[in-house]
Amino acid sequence: MAKIPIDLKAGEIKKDNSVIVGIDLGTTNSLVSYIKDGKAIAVKDKSGTNTLVPSIVSFAPSGEILVGEQARMNLILHPERTIYSVKRLLGKSYADIQGRRSKLGYTIIEDDTDALVKIQIDDKFYTPVELSAEILKFLKQRVEEELGLPVTKAVITVPAYFNDTQRQSTKDAGKLAGLDVLRIINEPTAASLAYGLDNLNDGKIAIYDLGGGTFDISILEITDGVFEVLSTHGDTYLGGDDIDNAIIEFWMDKYGIAEIAVMDNKEFSQAIRLTAEKAKKHLSFNDKFSETLGGVLFEINRSEFDSIITPIVDRTILSVNQALKDAKLSIEQVDELVLVGGSTRIPIIKSRLSEFFKKNVNDTLDPDEVVSLGAAVQADVLAGKNKRILLLDVTPLSMGIETMGGLMDVIVPRNSTIPIKVGRKYTTSMDGQKNLKVAIYQGERDLVKDNRKLGEFILKDIPPMSAGIPKIEVHFIIDSDGILQVRAKEERSGTESDIEINNHLGISEEEMGRMLLESIQHAEADMKVKALQESVNEANYIVNASKKFIQQNTSILSEDEIQEIQERTSKLKESISSQDKNSIQSAIQNLNAYTTPLAHRALDKNIGDAIKGISL
Ligand code: ADP
Ligand code: MG
Repeated sequence: MAKIPIDLKAGEIKKDNSVIVGIDLGTTNSLVSYIKDGKAIAVKDKSGTNTLVPSIVSFAPSGEILVGEQARMNLILHPERTIYSVKRLLGKSYADIQGRRSKLGYTIIEDDTDALVKIQIDDKFYTPVELSAEILKFLKQRVEEELGLPVTKAVITVPAYFNDTQRQSTKDAGKLAGLDVLRIINEPTAASLAYGLDNLNDGKIAIYDLGGGTFDISILEITDGVFEVLSTHGDTYLGGDDIDNAIIEFWMDKYGIAEIAVMDNKEFSQAIRLTAEKAKKHLSFNDKFSETLGGVLFEINRSEFDSIITPIVDRTILSVNQALKDAKLSIEQVDELVLVGGSTRIPIIKSRLSEFFKKNVNDTLDPDEVVSLGAAVQADVLAGKNKRILLLDVTPLSMGIETMGGLMDVIVPRNSTIPIKVGRKYTTSMDGQKNLKVAIYQGERDLVKDNRKLGEFILKDIPPMSAGIPKIEVHFIIDSDGILQVRAKEERSGTESDIEINNHLGISEEEMGRMLLESIQHAEADMKVKALQESVNEANYIVNASKKFIQQNTSILSEDEIQEIQERTSKLKESISSQDKNSIQSAIQNLNAYTTPLAHRALDKNIGDAIKGISL
């Protein structure tokens, strides 16, 4: 391709001496690492003991935002103001988390649409991106204090199964925390890098990751230093927490403690949970555990422990088998086995896996730290300080299209290797909409007006359909010469249109540098505007939907109900003009709370009618 005048090795504009850090943004714990004298090290807290930061954010009644250990204390004191496991919500819509909401101590607002989830604290609404950014800010500050230097660049890891939206959300969180996220890499890839397995020639690696609440098995193939994910499997609700629960159940049985007694007493229930976790960790290095709690001596030995966790280990092995099957590999074809996640310190897990794979495990690095250490290795490669470099052609700036309200929707992120083909689905926002404008931009800002326009075209002759019904797939295709082609196709009718663009390369180094810098400087303000615009879009959609809902269901709604919906709808309309994200969200919630049961009634009626229709 016509080479872009930037440093392709580093995938960045200006080379400087600043450190690029590696961050593991975990469900249970997060941490930051960097390379010191050629070796990856994880950064400890001020007391010099802990590298792990619990991934917990708490909003103290005073307004202070606490992160990590301090926030963890508030899990008991202020459960409704303390958010844990936010990674599970990243890039998720309400519809995605159906049924899981009630299990959390904090409030996720009631809604079952495709809108992205928000968490309510008092009268404010937070996105998972904002909450993750708090954790990242904490880590940024920790490493800055250690180095005595500002840190603005990072590599952040995500699970191999994370989709586009989840990856983009992770990047957004980094940006909001003041970090230029040079690359998002897969956690299993990071773990393999930490063990130096990128030096394997054409090897296959199994990475077994058992964390606090999730289990992942990934099979990677490495060819000439490039990692490819062959398969992933796992269980998003299986991890160390389940092992703690198994110990609690064992004790309740053994000492005849009723579940009610534990549930009713919050403090006791928390204390027994902490004791169970302590027992579990103790048994990774000792044969027996005993401790007195509330006058009762709680005991458990290694063989009791091994037998109660066997069902959990068995479940993970089933997943391992599935992952091997999906990768079309036999056990013998796996060259390396890597253990990741705090729970893999448990001896029986190590021995069962070693037996299953018929080989020794890579467990010399700390399993809690290995992902972040590997991210630091990748960061070092990007900084051009490491010889393990692959020359890759990358996109110097993100590319995407304009969506409702002038927002930039990134389709090809910055630093993507080319050639590349990426698609995303869109729909119309107005009933009977015939044309859709596809405007293509380049840059890192959240609003297209601040980015560089590359071109536009109009997808014409979409057959008349209600808003939201057309399925329009937009593809970005960049060939190995760097030529970008953008295609849009309405799938129901087959209508399509496209454009070829090559001016995205005609941009100077200075210009790119300026654009990158500005995107970081304006990150917070941009995010605010974006969040407001997204709320406005969501509100407009709901206003429209309730109008239609009334029209379609006049027969089953009472006068009073119709009036109430209309009143709540006009309040929502008023809130849109207030241009305040939180009042818009409150008004949405207020309307949804009223219409959700009515919608269920209408659905029941319609299904009833349909069944009657069949029997006639
Ligand atoms: P995540 O990737 O989900 O953020 P981690 O990899 O940090 O999670 O793992 C956290 C889990 O590891 C917790 O459930 C914790 O109790 C468990 N753990 C940590 N140390 C040990 C140990 N020595 N033995 C058993 N489990 C442990
Ligand atoms: Mg992890």
